[in-house]
Amino acid sequence: MTLQRPSLRTVFTEFMEDLHSALNDRGLTVTILPEKGRSLFTTRNFRPGEEIISQEPYVCVPNNSPVESRCDRCFASINLKKCSACKVAWYCSSVCQKSEWKLHRLECDALARLDKDRHKSVTPSIRLMIKLFIRRKLQSEKVIPMAATDNYKLVEELIDHMSGIDEKQLVLYAQMGTLVNFILQWPGMNVKEIAVNFSKLACNAHTICDSELRPLGTGLYPVISIINHSCLPNAVLVFEGRTAVVRAVQHIPAGAEVSISYIETAGSTMTRQKTLKENYLFTCTCSRCVKAQEDEIKESAILEGYRCRNDQCDGFLLRNSDDTGFTCQQCGLVRSKEDIKNIASKIKSISDEASTSLSSQSYAEALFMYEKVEKLQRILCHPYSISLMQTREKLLKISMELENWTKALTYCKLTISVYQKLYPGIHPLLGLQFYTCGKLEWLLGHTEDAIKSYTKAFDILRITHGTNSSFMKELLLKLEEARAEASYKLSSTDDE
Ligand SMILES: [Zn+2]
Ligand SMILES: [Zn+2]
Ligand SMILES: [Zn+2]
Ligand SMILES: [Zn+2]
Repeated sequence: MTLQRPSLRTVFTEFMEDLHSALNDRGLTVTILPEKGRSLFTTRNFRPGEEIISQEPYVCVPNNSPVESRCDRCFASINLKKCSACKVAWYCSSVCQKSEWKLHRLECDALARLDKDRHKSVTPSIRLMIKLFIRRKLQSEKVIPMAATDNYKLVEELIDHMSGIDEKQLVLYAQMGTLVNFILQWPGMNVKEIAVNFSKLACNAHTICDSELRPLGTGLYPVISIINHSCLPNAVLVFEGRTAVVRAVQHIPAGAEVSISYIETAGSTMTRQKTLKENYLFTCTCSRCVKAQEDEIKESAILEGYRCRNDQCDGFLLRNSDDTGFTCQQCGLVRSKEDIKNIASKIKSISDEASTSLSSQSYAEALFMYEKVEKLQRILCHPYSISLMQTREKLLKISMELENWTKALTYCKLTISVYQKLYPGIHPLLGLQFYTCGKLEWLLGHTEDAIKSYTKAFDILRITHGTNSSFMKELLLKLEEARAEASYKLSSTDDE
C-alpha cells in the first residue's frame, strides 16, 4: 500500500480550521454570505474603541516617487540611505535594513540586474507584486515562518473580480505581469497568474496612512481584507506604523457583521456607489445606500446641489421639469439655468488657475484664487455642499502653509460644521479636524477654546486611534499643557 498524499481539499480545510481557531480566540468568525462572500462576524460583544483585530502586512511598499522616499521597513522619511546594490530600496537605519534583508535579498538581486533606464518602470505596484511572490517562495521553502493569519493561502482566497474588469485594464495587468516576470526571471512563472494577482491587489490592498490619515504606502492584509464595506460602518481601520488595526466605533453585539469603509463616505449615495463600483466592483446595499428615492434625491441636492437665491434660506433645489432652472423646495424661489451656468463656469476657470498655483507652491497666489472660488461657491452651492467644504479644506491647508493662523482657524471651524453633518458621530476625520482647531486656538492664545477642541478631539480619537500611540500621547500632553495654562491664568487673575 502506498502512502497517500493529502488531497488539496484536506489541505484547504486544515488551513481554514487554523484561521477559524485563530479568529475564534479573538471573538471573531468568518461567515460566507450569499451576496457578499466571506464576511467577518463577531462571536462576542465589542465596546467602542476596542481593538477587533490587528495584522502585520503580508507585503507592503512605501509610495516612493522621485521627489519623496520612505524607509522600506518603517516608512520613516528621515536619515534615509539607498540600498547600495539595487539603488531602489531606502532604509532609515541598519536595524530596518537587516529586518527586511531576507525579503529584500532576492528582490535586490533582481533589481540590480536591471538596466538603469528600466528602473523608473519599477513602480510601487510592481515592487508590491515582486515582494508578494518572493514572500510566497520564502514561506514555501520555510526560510521565513508561516502562521494561520500569515500565509499565501490567504492571498489565494482573495477575490480578484477578473470577470468584471474591462479590456483596457486586462491589457495593463498583462503588461505589468510581463514586466514582473522579466524582473524576477524565475522558471515556471505564469504571466496570467501575475495579472490575476494585480487584479487582487487592486481590490484588496489597503493604503497605509499615518495617524493623521496622510498616505504613506500600500499593504496587503489578507485577514483585514475579509472585512466588508459599509457606508455607515461599525468599525474603523487605522495604522500604527505598518500594522493595520481595526477598532469598533460603536457597541458591536455578538453575532454582528464587522464593517469598515473602503472609501471617503462624505458624498451622496450616487457618488459613493459610483466610487465603489469603479474601484471595488460591487454595489453597496448598506442602510445608507438603501433608502427611499426621495431621500436620495434630497441628499444629493444638499451635498452636490445649489443654494437658494434667498441667502437666508437653506432649502434645497430641484431641477424644474421643463429644465429651465432649479426651484427651492422650501420657499419656491427659482434660480435660472443661465445664472447657475455663469457662476459655475467662473468657478471652473478660477479653480484651474488656483490648482496650478497650489501645485507650484505659490501659496499667496493660491490663497487669493481659492478665496475667490470660495466666495463664488457660497453663492452657487448649498451651505452643506461637498465642493464648498473641499475648497475650505484647501484654504485651511494653504493658510497654515502661510502661517496665517486666524484665517486657518476660520476655515477649520467652517469645515467642522459640515463634517458634523456628513460623518456620523465617531469619525477619525472629525477628531483630527478638532485637533487642528485646538492647535490653532492654542497658537492664537485662545486657551479656553483650545481646551474644548482638544477634549472633543480626544473623545473621538481615543476610540478610533486607541490611547497608546505616540500620536495620542502627544494630544494628551497638549491638552494638559492647555489646562495648566488656563489654571495658571485663573490663579494669577485671582491674585490681582
Ligand atoms: Zn526604518
Ligand atoms: Zn537592494
Ligand atoms: Zn453603502
Ligand atoms: Zn429658499
